[in-house]
Amino acid sequence: MVKTTKLYDLLGVSPSASESELKSSYRKLALKYHPDKNPDAGDQFKEISHAYEVLSDSNKREVYDQYGEEGLNGDGPGMSPQDIFSQFFGGGFFGGGFPHGQRQRGPRRGADMDFSLGVTLEDLYKGKTTKIAVQRQIVCVKCSGKGGKADSVKSCPGCQGTGVRVTIRQMGPMIQQMQSACNECNGEGEIIKEKDRCTSCHGKKVSSEKKVHEVFIEKGMADGQRIKFAGEADQAPGVVAGDVVVILNEKEHAFFKRNGKDLHCKVKIDLLTALAGGSFTIKHLDDRILEGTIKPGEVMKPEEVRCIDGEGMPEYKRPFNKGDLYVQFELVFPPANWADAETIAKLESILPPRMAMEVEAEDALPVTLKKVDPRRRTREQDRRQQRNAYDDDEEEERGGPGVQCHQQ
Ligand SMILES: [Zn+2]
Ligand SMILES: [Zn+2]
Repeated sequence: MVKTTKLYDLLGVSPSASESELKSSYRKLALKYHPDKNPDAGDQFKEISHAYEVLSDSNKREVYDQYGEEGLNGDGPGMSPQDIFSQFFGGGFFGGGFPHGQRQRGPRRGADMDFSLGVTLEDLYKGKTTKIAVQRQIVCVKCSGKGGKADSVKSCPGCQGTGVRVTIRQMGPMIQQMQSACNECNGEGEIIKEKDRCTSCHGKKVSSEKKVHEVFIEKGMADGQRIKFAGEADQAPGVVAGDVVVILNEKEHAFFKRNGKDLHCKVKIDLLTALAGGSFTIKHLDDRILEGTIKPGEVMKPEEVRCIDGEGMPEYKRPFNKGDLYVQFELVFPPANWADAETIAKLESILPPRMAMEVEAEDALPVTLKKVDPRRRTREQDRRQQRNAYDDDEEEERGGPGVQCHQQ
């Protein structure tokens, strides 16, 4: 037993109507009484939309059946008839927007404003405070966003305050609805007479403001990290302002490469240092100079990697925890023709003897070793280089980031 049948009566169905009966009945009536089709229909469109909104929701229908419309009070305002209509006939046909209507309960949220902020690795290592200026719209202070004197703001009769005109066309079995901005109110949904308009915003309801925000770049922040200023984006009447979002864009560093918490760099050492030991220095991101020593006799090979504990990037929010610094050595050889016969003889007496030849043969064919201009590339060389590039990547994965620091 239902308490009252009013909503069922409006849709012309019985209280036992199925969901599809409700739908087809609403469809028929909505098209008949839509204000664009039938301007003299009065409130009927609103009423059938409301009836359908309640009865198509099984929870609400249950409450209504048991307690009548009083049971639904306190449930907040329902959707606008236009929204119900749009949802039913698929607003997606026209981009899916519900301009000026309320898509959900509660106020609409404005768009965020994103800013890209270039930061150096030094900034991210040491931390920094910087400022950004944001130009945004704010709700007019003089008229509190009403656009004019309170009693002069009228809901637009042309679009019933929605700002949107909906035209329905039936093409065979297809029902098309066209949405366009209302031309009487320019899509505002409201009409304010020229003379009643707010003198500060001229009826626009908003004005422009420049606001400066201090951005705290914390130690250890990462490329792409977002710093939010809640509610600082454009304001508009009846809209919850979005956020200003600063997105960090880490600039490439000339010397250090970052990999999460770790840093990588390449250091050039001469052949003597590589073979006989010696020192090298690294200028760190905070201008400290680190000095590393290769022990005499240690022998540093080309591309060899060593790790310096705790000299990587600080961890975000725990800046005393630091990553490690990986140093890859590049050997600098003496220039061509550096050694005369005497020096060569000395080298031969000092260095380990020459390796045996790959293949020993009496009749090996002597060939000329021509110098190669590195700018001249054949396709074969290009291909070889690409292959090497892949190899390098693997090398880096094996020998780079994943590598653990060995204590010496
Ligand atoms: Zn209008
Ligand atoms: Zn104003």
